[in-house]
Amino acid sequence: MSKQLCTRMHTMRLCRILGLILTFIVQYARSNDGVCLAKEPCLDPVKRSNEKDPYSAEFNLYFKKIESSLADYVPCNNTNCNCHINVLKDDLRPFKSQGITQDMIKRAKQYGTHYQVIGHKLYRQRECMFPARCSGVEHFVKPLLPTLPDMDLVVNCRDWPQVHRHWSKEKTPVFSFSKTAEYLDIMYPAWAFWEGGPAIALYPTGLGRWDRHRKSITDAAAKMPWERKESKAFFRGSRTSDERDALVLLSRAQPSLVDAQYTKNQAWKSPQDTLNEEPAREVSLEDHCNYRFLFNFRGVAASFRFKHLFLCHSLVFHVGDEWQEFFYPSLKPWVHYVPVPVQNSPDELEALIRFFQEHDDLARGIAERGYEQIWNHLRMKDVECYWNKLLKRYGKLIRYPVEKDSSLMEV
Ligand code: UDP
Repeated sequence: MSKQLCTRMHTMRLCRILGLILTFIVQYARSNDGVCLAKEPCLDPVKRSNEKDPYSAEFNLYFKKIESSLADYVPCNNTNCNCHINVLKDDLRPFKSQGITQDMIKRAKQYGTHYQVIGHKLYRQRECMFPARCSGVEHFVKPLLPTLPDMDLVVNCRDWPQVHRHWSKEKTPVFSFSKTAEYLDIMYPAWAFWEGGPAIALYPTGLGRWDRHRKSITDAAAKMPWERKESKAFFRGSRTSDERDALVLLSRAQPSLVDAQYTKNQAWKSPQDTLNEEPAREVSLEDHCNYRFLFNFRGVAASFRFKHLFLCHSLVFHVGDEWQEFFYPSLKPWVHYVPVPVQNSPDELEALIRFFQEHDDLARGIAERGYEQIWNHLRMKDVECYWNKLLKRYGKLIRYPVEKDSSLMEV
């Protein structure tokens, strides 16, 4: 109440009463869930709580999950890429007692590209199924040659892992970029950190250059702070797995809640491949930063997009926990991202998205921790460091004198 108005009324008592009424109105408006300010049109509190009812059980569950995950969370120690060290220890453990024998390499050769390190030089079999992928691998191995011992190395550049825990009776050391717990492949940082990532119209020479993306996506995020991001779930990609269908269908039913559409990939033949709609226009990873909630799904194996999404400072929803890359275990559900079960109904997806729409502080907290984790612990030097540790420890397991295979060429 302004002093001027009070003076005009000439009665201090009336002025005080009016002041009290005004204070009450403002406080009532604020107390309505703590988010509705006097200047906003507020809902009737009864109606509002009824609206929330369908989700209240889920909402309580999400609160508990976040609370207990944060209570259990111990940040990793980043010296010498140690955040990821348990992954390579686990992957090499099966070879610890027996070491790696010539017979094992002989068996492994059918599953990937054969490399040798001999006398600090790198040799490779002449034919490589995906030249850009081999080149992306060699980019990381070559600088390590001066300190690497002699070794045979079989690198699988296909998407799919090769050594099934139950079907492969004998130990077979094959390096693959991604696997599930069903496989015994040794994970290596994917070629796509440098080159050979999927080529789409937007990235015609392949996704690649993680170092450049780290910068360009972070720059894009700086221009699109949380307050300006659309409060919507977003996904753009091709139908490499039908696990993506549920979100795309929810988007078609509720376009104001979700924008998830299928794009073309090289295998696209007709709208059937984009769930009976015309393919959508591709959206750059930088433009993903325009949205608060970004979805990640597996593709054929793990999808390369996962790490990029965190750079937007948006909240990452990660569907399924089976498919891994070497850095996935350093990211913790409910701490760095929102885990989403593969078997999900549109109602569950909607409840999860709405929960974070209504609990902005929790959404921003997870988004920021996710960003920090990737920014600080998945630098290019962490990728190089992982390759280094992996090959040094693998090299120590070789139990025979490595002899040069004359059919290989130096690369
Ligand atoms: N991608 C993109 N914008 C799009 C479509 C795809 O940036 O509009 C990127 C996406 O992030 C992923 C890659 O292109 O890293 C391939 O995506 P797709 O969905 O085709 O296959 P995925 O590898 O995820 O199975």
